Amino acid sequence: MECDKCGESAVMHAAYSGLHLCEEHFCRSVDSRVRKRIREDALLSEDATPEDPETWLIGLSGGKDSVVLTHVLDDVFARDPRVELVALTIHEGIEGYRDASLDACLELTDDLEIDHEVVSYADEYGLEMDDVAEDDPLNMAPCAYCGVFRRDALSQYAEEYGADKLLTGHNLDDEAQTAMMNLLSGDIQQVAKHFDASLGSFEEREIDDDPFVPRAKPLRDLPEKEVALYAHLRDLPTHMAECPHASEAYRGEIQEHLHALEDDHPGTRHSIMSGYEELAKLAAEAYRGSDDEAQGSCERCGAPTNNDVCRKCELVEAVGGEQAETVE
Ligand SMILES: [Zn+2]
Ligand SMILES: [Zn+2]
Repeated sequence: MECDKCGESAVMHAAYSGLHLCEEHFCRSVDSRVRKRIREDALLSEDATPEDPETWLIGLSGGKDSVVLTHVLDDVFARDPRVELVALTIHEGIEGYRDASLDACLELTDDLEIDHEVVSYADEYGLEMDDVAEDDPLNMAPCAYCGVFRRDALSQYAEEYGADKLLTGHNLDDEAQTAMMNLLSGDIQQVAKHFDASLGSFEEREIDDDPFVPRAKPLRDLPEKEVALYAHLRDLPTHMAECPHASEAYRGEIQEHLHALEDDHPGTRHSIMSGYEELAKLAAEAYRGSDDEAQGSCERCGAPTNNDVCRKCELVEAVGGEQAETVE
């Protein structure tokens, strides 16, 4: 097959757009979709100036998604004095796995000359995911603990560092899976949170009195396969192995269904996300200021919650961890 733009031989065919693209035109289309998303989300605030730049913290795991995100952001913003990029890697305490991916992170940030920081669960919570996965005191998937700790560690660090935005590499497949999981669980409050935390334009989100550093997902228009292809074609240092504790069975099931739907009805993931974003926006507006909105704060760490203790502090206690700092 030939590239629809130039006639060179195509490296990919996107059923949802009907396009065949060569290596060069495919990579350009990835770059331009990320740029468009950044523009449409109004990610770069108009108040950012060379004298007073914004700091964007990138969650960099060493996997293909966050590596591609870091690479594209560096391409677009490395010479823009209104933005400072910093990469942050979370070390969960998973032997072998995280050390190998940390090498990929170091190679990339070295190449790009981006500041790189590492935060570990051991330092923050006095725990290692290898032990948590083995003990599993609450009898749930290791990913369920790890996801809560990771979100908290990223947010905490972003705040301590004084970052203006927290950027993660979630792709279209990740987002469509999460959307379906939230819808199928019937938890509309979770849908609303998803909007305020990471979807939609910064002009539309109500983030002024949000205690967390606002989050963005500039790759959320790109299918996972295209992110992987881009990493491969650009020869980026990535760590491909899956986490040895990965066990999100339900997410895997949803992913299979979505792939089957996408095969028969190309464009399904994109349409799920455009509808979901609208719905999430309406839900976020409806919950704002309502009784269901978290009113109190965690007595240990200060995070917003409707209970005495937040979910993260509950989990740290359940696994016998010890937090680095507590709010009196
Ligand atoms: Zn071409
Ligand atoms: Zn807490």
